Amino acid sequence: MGSKYLVVLLALLSIIACKEKEQPVEEVVVVEKPADIYEFGFNLSDFVVKRDTVRSGDSFGVILERNKIGYPRIFSIAEKARDTFDIRRLQIGKPYTLLCSKDTLEIPKHFIYQPNQEEFVVISFQDSIHAYTSRKPIKYVEKSVTGVLNSSISQELDKKGISPILTNMLAEQIYAWTIDFTRLQKGDSYKVIYTDKYIDDTIYAGVHKVKAVVFNHKNTPYYAFRYRTDSIKNIHEYYNEAAKDLRRAFLKAPVQFSRISSKYNLNRRIAYYGFALRPHKGTDFAAPIGTPILATANGTVTESQYKGGNGNYVKIRHNSTYETQYLHMQKRKVRVGQHVKQGDVIGWIGMTGNTGGPHVCYRFWKNGKQVDPFKEKLSQSEPIAESLKGDYLNFIRPIKLKLDALPIFDDSKEKEVKTTVTQKE
Ligand SMILES: [Zn+2]
Repeated sequence: MGSKYLVVLLALLSIIACKEKEQPVEEVVVVEKPADIYEFGFNLSDFVVKRDTVRSGDSFGVILERNKIGYPRIFSIAEKARDTFDIRRLQIGKPYTLLCSKDTLEIPKHFIYQPNQEEFVVISFQDSIHAYTSRKPIKYVEKSVTGVLNSSISQELDKKGISPILTNMLAEQIYAWTIDFTRLQKGDSYKVIYTDKYIDDTIYAGVHKVKAVVFNHKNTPYYAFRYRTDSIKNIHEYYNEAAKDLRRAFLKAPVQFSRISSKYNLNRRIAYYGFALRPHKGTDFAAPIGTPILATANGTVTESQYKGGNGNYVKIRHNSTYETQYLHMQKRKVRVGQHVKQGDVIGWIGMTGNTGGPHVCYRFWKNGKQVDPFKEKLSQSEPIAESLKGDYLNFIRPIKLKLDALPIFDDSKEKEVKTTVTQKE
């Protein structure tokens, strides 16, 4: 190393010596330029960056005034930004950033407000005043996890540092009607291909979606593949390797952990009314006030309102034959025209309308008439549209190969191996 430097130095000296009289040697000063950091679409090194959160007593005006902008200007900024962002919507605790001039005055040039992790609002007043909303770049990273159950699935995934959201997706979204996750067995195994979501490349924003999964339960593989069935409404469903739906056409009950307090009975007589015939055309599921009420099948909300004895109720059309209705809700969660999926929360148990206690009166309509759902022969699965089947099978072929090729990583076996090695040492 040293000799190399000497050679360079000598060479340099000789050049300088030769050229000395003809030209002054230019002194080259290499200043290490700080790496440009971009955020919100700005090069942050062009500004003095001030970050803070909206505090109690803060307003857009108060924040700008504190940062040396006077009131007539604040008014005109707020006025011109109004179509994009109403400055009164600033919420306490949300972060904001001021990009200020890089001089001693540090005058704010851009105000950036983040109502959530993904979105941001920019109000610029460098020259002309303008405002816009934008989103931070989102990145999805495909990952996989496999394992053998020695404890509960949530404990297993938790040990591997995987978000509990993944367990919920498996238990509630994908296998809710196929595998009872409270009865999984030791030795059951799983392989999951899923995507994680990152905001701005760095902020982990949780599990995005499960692309494919196979659960080996009691030595039977249960495959599930996510597939887009409606590109306009952007609806995705899970089907198995034979394109069969994993859901029942209807859930057995619109409330989990409830009890039936009154059955569908056309010959019901009520003592309170002098044993007069009071047919009950619904099934009552009793549960505490505030318990979520679930849509028993996919469909579109056709009614959502408060009306007389029904109280707050929701009606859903599932297809040309079936509709379901849910009465006496404390609060409704869906509006007319909204598409709901099986298991979606549509409201909460209450006592509105004509009711003696907290329950949901579940009414099942077939061709416009109320019938007893428990006496209906309902199809057990909703198959994929015939027109999509070929595309679906092509779509899942490479994913299934990938899934099948994943080795199953058994934590308990790995531990055994490690123990053996330690003992040998
Ligand atoms: Zn009822």
